[in-house]
Amino acid sequence: MFRIEYHCHSNYSSDSDALMEEMVKSAIDKNISEIAITDHVDYDDRYEVSNYNDYINDISIIKEKYSKKISVIYGIEIGLDNKKADIINEFSKFYPFDFIIGSSHAVLGKDLYFDNYFENMDKFTAYTKYFDEMLKNIKTCLSFCVYGHIDFISRYGIYNDNSLKYSDFSDIIDNVLKELIKRGKGIEINTSGYRYGINQTYPSFEILKRYKELGGEILTIGSDAHNVFDIANNFDIAYDMAKQAGFKYITRFKALKPYFVLID
Ligand SMILES: [Zn+2]
Ligand SMILES: [Zn+2]
Repeated sequence: MFRIEYHCHSNYSSDSDALMEEMVKSAIDKNISEIAITDHVDYDDRYEVSNYNDYINDISIIKEKYSKKISVIYGIEIGLDNKKADIINEFSKFYPFDFIIGSSHAVLGKDLYFDNYFENMDKFTAYTKYFDEMLKNIKTCLSFCVYGHIDFISRYGIYNDNSLKYSDFSDIIDNVLKELIKRGKGIEINTSGYRYGINQTYPSFEILKRYKELGGEILTIGSDAHNVFDIANNFDIAYDMAKQAGFKYITRFKALKPYFVLID
């Protein structure tokens, strides 16, 4: 069975201490066939890869060293911001990335984790603005392959009930999904919610199913691991979800182009 791990952070991200090589060895132990290292690029103060040339070089060395056991590809996770689309689009061209995750880590200049984005906003307004900005990001930031953890805002809310039901935001979520599909972009199933005790993937099954119903085909799977233990965690759940939502294929990327692999 060809399984991919397409979202993980090594110590090139300032929120991880994990050595890239150890991440790759953990993926081999867990029978992963292809891994994308996807360290952070955010055009604010946080989590930035310290040196992109070193980053690419290190991936090259590990890719070669483990080539008989696993395929290692050049990935990155970029925090998208439509107001910085020009910088983001330029950056993506400078390095030989195979795979780019575009994510919303900040909305309207406010980091969801570090800043007070939610202050003085009710849940409906805060979540709707998050998706409105996401739609603008999709229309302006051109280089990404899949949108990361698209309903991630529910992890950070400050409300009694932070959950995000598809039916409460169906219009704007449909617009986001349709725009992704129109532009040949995909989404990921991100299993990190399980280790935060939220017991769900990002996105939820409802949103994943809706993406498929609207014609979405490009789908990757990633753990968002920041240490070796979390690599490929809960992937059985993710692959089962994909099948249940009607997907027959998972997507691999090479030089930012998608290739489809049958789920067996
Ligand atoms: Zn992220
Ligand atoms: Zn991540």
